[in-house]
Amino acid sequence: MESKGLQPMDSEQLRENAHKMVDFIADYYKSIENFPVLSQVEPGYLRELLPDSAPNQPETLQNVLDDVQAKILPGVTHWQSPSYFAYYPSNSSVAGFLGEMLSAGINMVGFSWITSPAATELEMIVLDWLGKLLKLPEDFLSTAGQGGGVIQGTASEAVLVVLLAARDRVLRKLGKNALEKLVVYASDQTHSALQKACQIGGIHPENCKLLKTDSSTNYALSPDLLSKAISDDISTGLVPFFLCATVGTTSSTAVDPLLSLGKMAKNNGIWFHVDAAYAGSACICPEYRCYIDGVEEADSFNMNAHKWFLTNFDCSALWVKDRNALIQSLSTNPEFLKNKASQANMVVDYKDWQIPLGRRFRSLKLWMVLRLYGLENLQCYIRNHINLAKYFEGLVAADSRFEVVTPRIFSLVCFRLLPPNNNEDHGNNLNHDLLDAVNSTGKIFISHTVLSGKYILRFAVGAPLTEERHVTAAWKVLQDEASALLGSL
Ligand code: PLP
Repeated sequence: MESKGLQPMDSEQLRENAHKMVDFIADYYKSIENFPVLSQVEPGYLRELLPDSAPNQPETLQNVLDDVQAKILPGVTHWQSPSYFAYYPSNSSVAGFLGEMLSAGINMVGFSWITSPAATELEMIVLDWLGKLLKLPEDFLSTAGQGGGVIQGTASEAVLVVLLAARDRVLRKLGKNALEKLVVYASDQTHSALQKACQIGGIHPENCKLLKTDSSTNYALSPDLLSKAISDDISTGLVPFFLCATVGTTSSTAVDPLLSLGKMAKNNGIWFHVDAAYAGSACICPEYRCYIDGVEEADSFNMNAHKWFLTNFDCSALWVKDRNALIQSLSTNPEFLKNKASQANMVVDYKDWQIPLGRRFRSLKLWMVLRLYGLENLQCYIRNHINLAKYFEGLVAADSRFEVVTPRIFSLVCFRLLPPNNNEDHGNNLNHDLLDAVNSTGKIFISHTVLSGKYILRFAVGAPLTEERHVTAAWKVLQDEASALLGSL
């Protein structure tokens, strides 16, 4: 007996349903300003709304989309809203979306060159393109020597893989017993991803040294402090092996002085990694390229194209000068993956540059972004956000109840409401309350940090739809809520 059964990839069904889905998504973007930016639901809200088990019989796409509208979207925080100013942005764009769609459509798994030669080769080419836009030194490019770029899922994976490569490089020389002596350096402003990498990499917790920063260096790592830490550690028999500098720290966009840090790393045989997860995008503009001056001293460099470069999540670009260091740490060669091209060492197999085996065709979306927008538009995009942040900074500076806390460098403004009568005992609670109040309105979403013990508000411009009017409106929300709070004191 013939049964038609399930046809999970019928071209005509795909055409019809995907058109409906694109319409749904386009309508979402059209109406995105109507949603509260920060989801206002309570924990566990969704369990109340959905059945306990999956359906036995198929439902229609329309049923599902109705549920998305009524039950899912209320529990979404709208990172693409033009009034999203929290953390750092996570850009979506038409080009990035189309690339994701194509990648989902082709749905190959490109762990070895042979599993889809185009995926590996496009990734190498596109990262060379981006590396050139950033004016990275030649030896980071795949066309020169042992260097090259690779797309990781996140900056956390990027720092993890290079830390493992650096660890194993030194352990090959000193023997495995040296692990407990290995020391990592970074500033106390470095993203917690480094600490996680140290945990995974078996670095002794006391040997992950986060050197103190303060306002005197605008929260950048001091080379003097690093120099002292290195010589103290060497004198007690420890082995410095990894330094992570940040260009655009998460709290306040501090920029560590790459050149002097890098030279110190080189003189001491330390692997030097530069994390420019957010601010790296700005360095495609000649006027911001200076912030990565000194990158020539680095062993590895990372920027997240999925943050501020119009490339839908996830797409974290990592470049290394010595691909063999990665490969020696991360490669495996089981029988079932052996093939002529790999065995003959003729190709790059990206499985050996990352933690998982499987990998998506992520270069497609970055390629789309670079081709459909072009460098000049991308530069304008970045400059526009930085100008909007400048505009916001001016608004804050003009209101004597507030202060701008750190000099703005890129598109993040760190500011706070000054406590009345300079009573700092109330400053932190006041700003905490202001953050809660503005985010509860649903009109905007901002986030916070703590610098030198002070609770600071962060206003990060970078969502693709943000215009001057949204910044003006956001400032009004902040002023209104501040007036209400101050009035109630
Ligand atoms: N490094 C910096 C400077 C960041 O700002 C962030 C996230 O905001 C990260 C690393 C971690 O990024 P990811 O989520 O890609 O791991």
